[in-house]
Amino acid sequence: MRSGSPRDYSRRAQLSQSPDPAMVPADVAEAQILDLITPFDGARDRETVTLAEARDRILADTVLSPLDFPHWDNSAMDGYAVRFADVQGATATATVALTVIEEIPAGKRPQQAVAAGQAARILTGSMMPEGADTIVIQEITQRRDDQVQILEAPQPQAFVRHRASFHRAGEPLLFAGTVLQAPEIAVLAAAQCPLVPVYRRPRVAILSTGDELVTPDRPLQPGQIVDSNQYALVTLVQQAGAEAIPMGIVPDQPEALREAIAAALDQADLVLSSGGVSVGDYDYVDRILTELGATLHIRAVAIKPGKPLTVATFTQPSPTLYFGLPGNPVSALVSFWRFVEPALRKLSGQTRWSPLFVKARSHQDLRAGGQRETYLWGQVQVTEAGFEFSLAGGRHSSGNLINLAGTNALGVVPVGVTQIAAGDPVRVLLLPSGFTS
Ligand code: AMP
Ligand code: MG
Repeated sequence: MRSGSPRDYSRRAQLSQSPDPAMVPADVAEAQILDLITPFDGARDRETVTLAEARDRILADTVLSPLDFPHWDNSAMDGYAVRFADVQGATATATVALTVIEEIPAGKRPQQAVAAGQAARILTGSMMPEGADTIVIQEITQRRDDQVQILEAPQPQAFVRHRASFHRAGEPLLFAGTVLQAPEIAVLAAAQCPLVPVYRRPRVAILSTGDELVTPDRPLQPGQIVDSNQYALVTLVQQAGAEAIPMGIVPDQPEALREAIAAALDQADLVLSSGGVSVGDYDYVDRILTELGATLHIRAVAIKPGKPLTVATFTQPSPTLYFGLPGNPVSALVSFWRFVEPALRKLSGQTRWSPLFVKARSHQDLRAGGQRETYLWGQVQVTEAGFEFSLAGGRHSSGNLINLAGTNALGVVPVGVTQIAAGDPVRVLLLPSGFTS
């Protein structure tokens, strides 16, 4: 289905034949992951959408303007189109009288050229008539019948917007990789580009692993846990502009996992599984990936939560990146925000990939173990003084999913730091789902 894809992981695969099982620092993991990704190809991985469908899509090609902006010389004000030579000596005591030969409303082509001693009544946005080179604003004129008195000399070429002075036809209007939002869509509409070349959406298969998992509609048996990751990951994938392919729950059985992962590889550009990547007796994912021919690049990252993280690549049946996320719901989300999101942005053709970190003032003391980069969930508010970070209430346990609700940012306590005092600056990762002020 995706045969002939230009993306090629084989070169990098050769470089990483012997994966280092040690924990890698988060920024090293990020760089390594981004380096594994070949972005979509503007010629092959593209589709055409209408302007109405273009919101949040990514331009796959540079768009050249078919038109000059402005399209013709026009007036920036209501007034009179005149010849500067006629009015350059005008003063309140020595006014210049001109004959008004026509009125040019917006959207109408002037019918007559302005000759010496003549003027045309003109409105904002109207085309300049032949012969005229200057606009006299109506505030410095007096009109009687077909005569207009000019009471003050304007600057030469005053209030004329010249053709192509904003943008020239044939020059690039928007570049490949631009995310299309209201301003860009307005520009494309104005340039009469009703059909827009965009990158296709990356296809992301999502599977949850674990014998204990059930869907939310099932009565819970003792020991069972609801598969919340599937829903969180589908949402995050869709928010990132990708197409989510939910593949359900896979039991902790090697054969079932092998089948499910193989099916995911057949359909997706990127596969996300959660669970089964730690060192427990039932954590089969890494073994199955290897058996299926993957190259494992990362197996653990020095962050908390989210230490077990498998990053692998497949070249068969087509180039695919595989993320084995930790099963723990908080760890899975933190790993997505920190590592999968930038990877998706790069794959999908955007020009900015890296997560958005800002400095914020912490409202509370933030504590960490100091061994691993620690991500604490909470909320950023934008105030006049800048960014403010408040820690989510409740237990900061990676097993506590409940106090994640409302999270729009993660406070980062670096390795080697065990406390950031209330009032001090903290580096925070802004989550793409947006934040309120
Ligand atoms: P694992 O990484 O498979 O050892 O899972 C770690 C913890 O996360 C266990 O308590 C699992 O029950 C829980 N967990 C695993 N997968 C999911 C999931 N899809 N949704 C919610 N919790 C999960
Ligand atoms: Mg498990």
